[in-house]
Amino acid sequence: MKQMISILDENLEYVEQECLFGEDIIYVKSKLTNGICPYCGKMSNRTHSTYDKRYLKFFAGDKEVRVILMNRKLFCDNQMCTHTTFAQRIPEKPDFEERKARFEDAYRRHIKSIGLKVG
Ligand SMILES: [Zn+2]
Repeated sequence: MKQMISILDENLEYVEQECLFGEDIIYVKSKLTNGICPYCGKMSNRTHSTYDKRYLKFFAGDKEVRVILMNRKLFCDNQMCTHTTFAQRIPEKPDFEERKARFEDAYRRHIKSIGLKVG
């Protein structure tokens, strides 16, 4: 799974996976711990909290698969800034659509191979 996640983005890291109501939910987070405040341009690496953000949703067979990004909220320490916190942004890869297709493909093959082992 760790390898598979890097197909989407090398800066994403696999955290955990759970199966909930027949859905596969994969949690990922950014390897980058810092971010640039969009309001003032200052760099910060002080984490305020994390929140779940939907990153990807697709079907593998009749199973719904969701990739959830545990996105960081960072403090902006610039006292002149109008905001005290901001959400870390993960720049979208220019070839994201292609990466997404490759990831979905790899995931479907992965599920199939598990199915074969179990069955
Ligand atoms: Zn700021």
